[in-house]
Amino acid sequence: MIFITRQESFICDHCGTSVGVLTNGSYRNQCPACLYSKHVDEEGPGDRKSLCLGLMKPIRIDQHAKKGWMIVHQCMKCLKEMRNRSAPDDDIVGFMQRESEKFARENRKD
Ligand SMILES: [Zn+2]
Ligand SMILES: [Zn+2]
Repeated sequence: MIFITRQESFICDHCGTSVGVLTNGSYRNQCPACLYSKHVDEEGPGDRKSLCLGLMKPIRIDQHAKKGWMIVHQCMKCLKEMRNRSAPDDDIVGFMQRESEKFARENRKD
């Protein structure tokens, strides 16, 4: 088993976007386009201790006073929830739009 501890680019398992590394040195697992992530960390961002490797779905966005936007992911395989700091190029607005459209569709009274 090889544990990868460095940054590398990847192809998003959910939408197929090719995700490049961040140049500001911060870490990311999630795709900036759909915000899906992969269950590779167990205790915290970047530890790469998880053997699950399930797809992690963004379930909500929290705003943290100091850290800014936090994306809350839930693993679709083991249901673990993790909070991740968002990257500057993450499409938070797009995610919120999709969520509110979904909410409107689900709550339509017709
Ligand atoms: Zn994606
Ligand atoms: Zn998992």
